[in-house]
Amino acid sequence: MKIQTEGIRRIVVKVGTSTLTHANGTMNLRKIEKLVRCLADIKNTGKQVILVSSGAVGCGLAKLQFDRETLTTRQKQAAAAVGQCDLIGMYSREFAQYGHTVAQILLTKEIIDDEARYEKAKNTVETLLEAGVLPIVNENDTVSDEQIRFGSNDTLAAIVALLSGADLLVNLSDVNGLYTSDPRKDPNAKLLDCVSAITPEIEASAGGAGSARGTGGMVAKLQSARMVTEAGIPMIICNGDDPAMLYSILDGLFIGTYFEAKQEGKTV
Ligand code: GLU
Repeated sequence: MKIQTEGIRRIVVKVGTSTLTHANGTMNLRKIEKLVRCLADIKNTGKQVILVSSGAVGCGLAKLQFDRETLTTRQKQAAAAVGQCDLIGMYSREFAQYGHTVAQILLTKEIIDDEARYEKAKNTVETLLEAGVLPIVNENDTVSDEQIRFGSNDTLAAIVALLSGADLLVNLSDVNGLYTSDPRKDPNAKLLDCVSAITPEIEASAGGAGSARGTGGMVAKLQSARMVTEAGIPMIICNGDDPAMLYSILDGLFIGTYFEAKQEGKTV
């Protein structure tokens, strides 16, 4: 896919658990190192980067001896508390190598309905970016219950893109993008390069699949694409297996699905 990239200054990058961890749940250090190096380098070019990172529950569970068969919500929330520490510690050390400071922002869905909280989150993100800090956002899984959960970090990433007035949202996934049907089941599935409108046919392509270690799946990604594109922010879904894909995106030529923004003014 070929796109115009002039004018992209502020980028939100979302990375999922399946990209950050091995199959056994432990951190995939090689991938995290590559991702951090790439984001640090992009930041060095003068762009502002916000990272929305999952992985708290996954990393926490890999450390704790909870029985997976009988896992309770309380245990998952406890796992998130353990995993988030590890995750942010890792990011902080890795980014420090390149001279970058990170900040941890944990949000719950309440910010959507509570204008004052939304403003506070927005102001904090803005202040951090102005100060040259790279905010790392996750859902505050430890205190989120069913009523106040984003449910997936795909949705959270869309909220963060809206709240920060980003120029682009990149969703690093474990697939290359949106296909005409599920590529794991249909050998004839074709990658959709560009989506200009999220039609019922496009929705049907998304199916309901999510990976074993993440929660999102294509349905949540499409919902997040709808949220941001309607507000004038384009979104890309691409494979996070090699984070260097982010360089390709900023060079304007990449493999993935590009969701066109609906309004003027935020097109790339
Ligand atoms: N917030 C969750 C975590 O960090 C993940 C949610 C998701 O995978 O979308 O583990």
